[in-house]
Amino acid sequence: MDEAVALGKGLLLGEKPAVVVTPNAEIAYEAMRDPAFRDLLNRADLILPDGAGVVLGAKILKTPLKQKVAGIDWAANMLRVFAETGTPLFLLGSKPGIGELAAEQMKLRAPGLIVCGIRDGYFKDEADVVEQINDSGAKALFVCLGAPKQEHFMFNHQAELTSVRVMAGLGGSLDGFAGTVKRAPGWMIKLNLEWLYRLIKEPKRFGRMLRLPKFIFAALRQRLKG
Ligand code: UDP
Repeated sequence: MDEAVALGKGLLLGEKPAVVVTPNAEIAYEAMRDPAFRDLLNRADLILPDGAGVVLGAKILKTPLKQKVAGIDWAANMLRVFAETGTPLFLLGSKPGIGELAAEQMKLRAPGLIVCGIRDGYFKDEADVVEQINDSGAKALFVCLGAPKQEHFMFNHQAELTSVRVMAGLGGSLDGFAGTVKRAPGWMIKLNLEWLYRLIKEPKRFGRMLRLPKFIFAALRQRLKG
């Protein structure tokens, strides 16, 4: 996490808008099967392992990762960096009203944080959204539209974003900051059972979550082949 935050801080000093992606096992499984999406993820400047499944897959493949870095935890740490460095943040995504609630909570966590713009994730005109972000002077941008929508948005508009220096695709994180979607209790996170908590809370995710065992199975198959 410390390394990931230091890297994120470094990206703020770059000349072009850097892209941060946060694949979990579901997203990594999609990327395995969809070469175009995989290329997109691989073009990112920073790729964070947003789940215990990705960490396990990497271990199986003998390319171990140090630890899980949940996108929302990285984002929470970056809020303090933004506050310390006077970096204005734009929040894009989730349902109307959620961004405002998230901004309030974020300012409590990181006193001095400047949230320079908010837009919900249910828009038709992408050009209008890009214009709003540019007009806001945002240097940091959280894109919370779910995968793969957020990754497409970031790469499609990377060249048009004039002030942004770092943007991150963070799925349902604004709901998390707003408190409208609760995170698993600490003991479940420690036991690597955050996925199970989400499944219990949102059983409709079952179909999607089958990608997690499929991802682990694919990693095992790869290891046995190699
Ligand atoms: N969302 C959005 N626009 C859309 C579809 C989804 O802003 O067109 C938001 C949705 O409200 C939720 C987030 O994107 O806040 C997706 O959350 P999810 O937990 O499904 O993310 P994932 O697990 O796919 O990263």
